[in-house]
Amino acid sequence: MATTTTRFGGNSAVFDGPTGYAGVEAGPEWAEEILRLAKAKNATILAHNYQLPAIQDIAHHVGDSLALSRIAAEAQEETIVFCGVHFMAETAKILAPSKTVLIPDERAGCSLADSIDAAQLREWKAEHPDAVVVSYVNTTAEVKGLTDICCTSSNAVEVVESIDPDREVLFLPDQFLGAHVRRQTGRTNMHIWAGECHVHAGINGDELTARSQAYPDAELYVHPECGCATSALYLAGEGFVPEDRVKILSTGGMLDAARTTGAKQVLVATEIGMLHQLRKAAPGVDFQAVNDRASCPYMKMITPAALLRCLTEGKDEVHVDVATAERARASVERMIAIGSPGGGE
Ligand code: SF4
Repeated sequence: MATTTTRFGGNSAVFDGPTGYAGVEAGPEWAEEILRLAKAKNATILAHNYQLPAIQDIAHHVGDSLALSRIAAEAQEETIVFCGVHFMAETAKILAPSKTVLIPDERAGCSLADSIDAAQLREWKAEHPDAVVVSYVNTTAEVKGLTDICCTSSNAVEVVESIDPDREVLFLPDQFLGAHVRRQTGRTNMHIWAGECHVHAGINGDELTARSQAYPDAELYVHPECGCATSALYLAGEGFVPEDRVKILSTGGMLDAARTTGAKQVLVATEIGMLHQLRKAAPGVDFQAVNDRASCPYMKMITPAALLRCLTEGKDEVHVDVATAERARASVERMIAIGSPGGGE
């Protein structure tokens, strides 16, 4: 049953419904109240590139998961409001343990991070006791604590190349990113966990082929977690799309490429929230989604109502126990030291 949790503007209320907090319009009154509360509570608002446009526009900083965690670690404010999914807020807490980290709705999970838990990883490690464990940043703090080196989609290849070629590698949790890394490194002693993000995996090769035929002059920006990354490389290899027009990029890399592209049209294969920042970064370019249904329901749980409740009530606070955070921090710091980690998702 829906429950009212916060009054706002005299007659608007925050309801907790089946898809999260709702009932508040993101109008000027809301924006003013959010910024007033953030100032009063000495909080900075960080928003991931996949957030709703209203949340991206009110945030003090917008970016990818690692860039935001770094901003959290360096922020002057005592409180970090992380508008993203839970593992991202946990990473911010790991890198900024002395700060209060809040997420507007702690139920905002991630199907990719949920595809492996600590017990499953312990079991997998026991089967390969000498292997080096490489985890993509989309993992829980507990899984990071059992990891040797974390990686982002920008430096996954360099991280795996930095490992002694005679050591086995356990790569998790994303099978598409793993396939991309295996293809790039030619490594045969690398085991890949069969996890996937249901949003990215839903962007498939058939759609990519149809869209690239409909827009024959467009560049293609493909996130390596997409089920279509292999298809994009295949299409390039077969000459359907000139190889130099296919770019496999993290979300941060997409923004860098957008600012300097000479293309008039760009097809984007990742979560559709990304289009908002791309269009802002390069207003003269026509950015089109490969799959306009690729919307992450977890990211969209961070609604205007949830952000208002978060700042009003100081909820939901993110906790990571000290020992787990220390181990996880070591694997994240190793990641930052290798290559150009960019920003991950
Ligand atoms: S888009 Fe996929 S990987 Fe990203 S937060 Fe959503 S479920 Fe997780």
